[in-house]
Amino acid sequence: MKGTRYSGHFIYMKKLAATLLFALPAFAQTAAKGVNLYSIESDIAIGREEALRLTSALPVVHDPKLDEYCSRLMGELARHADSRFAYSFVVYEDRRPSAPVWVAMQMPLDAFSARPREPVALAGGPIFIPISLIASAPDEATLAFHLAHAVAHVSLRHSTRLATREELMDLAAVPLTQVQSASGAVVQVSTQVARQTAVLSMARQFERAADTLATGIMAEAGYDPAKALASLEGQGTPEARRRMETVLAKRDSLPEAVYGADTGAFEEIKALAAGIRLFSIGVFSRWSITTTSPEPFLLVSFSPS
Ligand SMILES: [Zn+2]
Repeated sequence: MKGTRYSGHFIYMKKLAATLLFALPAFAQTAAKGVNLYSIESDIAIGREEALRLTSALPVVHDPKLDEYCSRLMGELARHADSRFAYSFVVYEDRRPSAPVWVAMQMPLDAFSARPREPVALAGGPIFIPISLIASAPDEATLAFHLAHAVAHVSLRHSTRLATREELMDLAAVPLTQVQSASGAVVQVSTQVARQTAVLSMARQFERAADTLATGIMAEAGYDPAKALASLEGQGTPEARRRMETVLAKRDSLPEAVYGADTGAFEEIKALAAGIRLFSIGVFSRWSITTTSPEPFLLVSFSPS
């Protein structure tokens, strides 16, 4: 079997029955605040369209075991997030530079700026998981934290809130440039700088909010936030230290708990992800993957056109 083609293939999480909770769930404690010009339906429609575009542009990886594992883990986390969205995922190959991929990506927030790269969280639920994140995670709880972080971006509607902010700033910028027509160029530049600064500052706030909610989600799903802390500490960067402070603050606010969640499959899946290799077969528009797992040849190709 070879050359199987996939396009727009998503695995939608089953909406799970609401669970009776004795405490306010993580999501309810960190509800999205702030202006959003978009409706929930718009979030879902925008994300779906963007996901189709990304799925056709990215080297998407499909492996039955990997998909089943991610589906299970994502399902556990999504139970504790905003239930108005259907969280879905796609695993993509990010370990290999691919020019068309970077051009196609105009990603929300910091998805492609740091290592290990965080998943790309689109409005309304689609989440794109870089395979390196799975292959490099030290343990399942750390992976759960990164996935919960993406789920949190969706729940908190960060994509459309950022878009709202940009739209409002566009509107606000108009009178400025009109009033000072003589030095219009200067105003234009300073407006642009102010705009970028404001958007960056908002994006940073969103990262903190996503980490806070992710900490609550992982804890409710039975994963110890201390594992996320250890992983961030190991990164040793100023950004990781800032994230640690956020996770620590949230963890300290949680009740004492015994964290026993474990699928028992992490090490196998990690090795599988590490062994998957995706290579170009001929033209740029087609890809195929192989793996060092016992199944001798595993096959996925994709076509961006
Ligand atoms: Zn983020």
